[in-house]
Amino acid sequence: MRKLIVANYKMNGNKKLFADIVKKINKYKVKDTKIVLCPPFVYLDEFKIKSNSVFLGCQDITNIDNSKSTGQISPNMLHEFSVKYVIVGHSERRSLGENDELINEKVHVCINNDLMPIICVGEKKKSDKLDAVLTQIQSALKGIEKSYVPIIAYEPVWAIGTGKLPTVSRINKVADMIRSYISDLGYKNSVVLYGGSVSAQNYDEIINANIDGLLLGGVSLKFDEFIEIVKGIDHV
Ligand code: PEP
Repeated sequence: MRKLIVANYKMNGNKKLFADIVKKINKYKVKDTKIVLCPPFVYLDEFKIKSNSVFLGCQDITNIDNSKSTGQISPNMLHEFSVKYVIVGHSERRSLGENDELINEKVHVCINNDLMPIICVGEKKKSDKLDAVLTQIQSALKGIEKSYVPIIAYEPVWAIGTGKLPTVSRINKVADMIRSYISDLGYKNSVVLYGGSVSAQNYDEIINANIDGLLLGGVSLKFDEFIEIVKGIDHV
């Protein structure tokens, strides 16, 4: 399976930076990965992607698809910019008050509208039990058809933006646990990504983990380092 590499630009960047990133990514010959770029909504239009291995994503979506939702972004708006993927339930949004129910509604809005949710889950502290991760998955997938292939980004909150990384064996343990849990829920397949403090300096450890790809935050803004990680995965 082609590895998936997701760039989450969060609330960063500007027109100039993204014009540069788009120019460079359009020149990069992707070999064997799928790349998903998730800019802030206001910059979606800057992303005129020319590669059929690079897709556009975004960082959130409305939970209720109706016209009375001030400040929300609908699936139809996202389709206008050819968005295919949506990051849902990122810990930075959970910390603003998004709960499991709301995240489940957003997953439904995505799937009902032909958008692929990338569901973020992860324990808050390194010492926390991993049951919380399974509860997040179970809630996010409530009512979702079993023929669907869930994309789960395992992002331990303590590893996001901190420079702290779980060991490869811990990532493997959690990835296996997530796969087998999703299979017990009745889904035939799943895609499990890892995210949290991956950088050009440490990615070579992480790519040995039993994962289907990466969700990259801070490093996505430094194109040279981002593409070094992509190449490390793409050219193996
Ligand atoms: C993220 O916010 O999803 C993330 C992975 O961030 P970072 O890579 O900066 O830790």
